[in-house]
Amino acid sequence: MNQTSTSELEKLETLARQLEIPVDQRHRWNATVMEYADQFLDELPERKAFDARPDRGARLNEVSIEKDGKSLEQLLALLHDHVDRNGINPASGRHLGYIPGGGIYHSALGDYLAAVTNRYAGMFFASPGAVRIENNLIRWMCRLVGLPETSHGNLTSGGSLANLIAVTTARDVRNVQAIDMDKQVVYVTHQTHHCIQKAFRIAGMREAQIRYIPTDTNFRMNAELLRQAVEVDVRHGLQPFMIVGSGGTTDTGAIDPLQEMADIAEEYDIWYHVDAAYGGFYLLSEKFAPRFQGIERANSVVIDPHKGLFVPYGLGVVLVRDVKNLLETYHHTASYLQDALGATEEWSPADLSPELSKHFRGLRLWLPLHLLGTEPFRAALEEKALLCQYFYQRIQEEGFTVGPPPELSVMIYRYVPEEGDSNDFNEELVQYIQQQGRVFLSTTRIDDVFWIRLAVLSFRTHREEIDEVIRVLKEGVDYLSKP
Ligand SMILES: *Cc1c(COP(=O)(O)O)cnc(C)c1O
Repeated sequence: MNQTSTSELEKLETLARQLEIPVDQRHRWNATVMEYADQFLDELPERKAFDARPDRGARLNEVSIEKDGKSLEQLLALLHDHVDRNGINPASGRHLGYIPGGGIYHSALGDYLAAVTNRYAGMFFASPGAVRIENNLIRWMCRLVGLPETSHGNLTSGGSLANLIAVTTARDVRNVQAIDMDKQVVYVTHQTHHCIQKAFRIAGMREAQIRYIPTDTNFRMNAELLRQAVEVDVRHGLQPFMIVGSGGTTDTGAIDPLQEMADIAEEYDIWYHVDAAYGGFYLLSEKFAPRFQGIERANSVVIDPHKGLFVPYGLGVVLVRDVKNLLETYHHTASYLQDALGATEEWSPADLSPELSKHFRGLRLWLPLHLLGTEPFRAALEEKALLCQYFYQRIQEEGFTVGPPPELSVMIYRYVPEEGDSNDFNEELVQYIQQQGRVFLSTTRIDDVFWIRLAVLSFRTHREEIDEVIRVLKEGVDYLSKP
């Protein structure tokens, strides 16, 4: 090497070494970040559940990425002012809209360690320990659902991706060809999560027929009408491809008649998929598990730890009855991966999903499950369901109309005013409540009726928070009823 390239190398090295933090600075930054996190958590009880800032964080667009760095304090101030106090506060126990996510601290520690150690969790050969951790979690969930020994699955970033993996797997197992795509029929209800339709589009199955089977008064699929629809389709030469059952719908927490649907799927040899993204972990409760009977007969199941196990956003799971089905779609070899071929004791996530380089996302679930055991999770889930029941009673005493009694921890209700359009009234009521931001509620429309939802799934929601919702709703009704 000549003189100039040696000094060039030194210069580059000095700059490049900034990517490694000296130990004293690391300790300072750790302390600064911890202080920020502590303050966030300490303030949580007083903070709004929904903060509608008029500028919606637009100042962030002026923060340009430059050649030189900025201070950590400066960046945390941006997070403080424009991110963490802006919009819905998913960490709040007064977030009762959509399906609230979790955020247990144990998972944050797991994420931190996964990032620092940067274990590569795609291939068993590369990180046998990390892959064993993930596979053991998957096996635990397969057993929870009641799937056989042949089953396995994949940890995804969420339920939508998990549903997509199930749909693509079924497509390939059934060897669906483009030429007869329009003969494929999928059976859902209007309460099936929209990510299923999205999955069909992404999977190249846009032309497949989607049959919306009517629901009963509790928004559960009518199995008799499902059977009739399948029979008609078979008679017309169509190919019933997939039946989608919901193990807790997003709107009302309804559980489809999973057993009867399994019978029909079996009889007509149709792929049976159960989307239990929201409700699936209620299987941890002896009280609720019987309601899911039939889920163990599914060909594929989706279940979301970032919902029912309260971990932070970024963890869904797909489980498939026969792991070979997953391999069919997702296994691929390449010459640059040849070193990995010898290690075959465990499935590699990269062979069971679209991902190759992959975050060690299992650690955010493994750590809390082992630190806490399952008991606090079971108790929290049962508590949320009981809170929903409590609200169901209390809100009727306050003069509200309710939908079906909650099966899990989600329900719908509305106020019917003495005069005026009740859809408009409830819409205004929710707008008024969102403006205040003390609690966050979301809404839905079923058969043109506007409903307010209560979705109790934040691990920070307890009796106190539900009483606050009731107070806020009462105040809202009083305010809007004033002449
Ligand atoms: C939330 C949800 C999904 C989508 O999962 P994401 O994790 O948000 O991608 C799918 N199905 C049901 C029933 C859900 O509640």
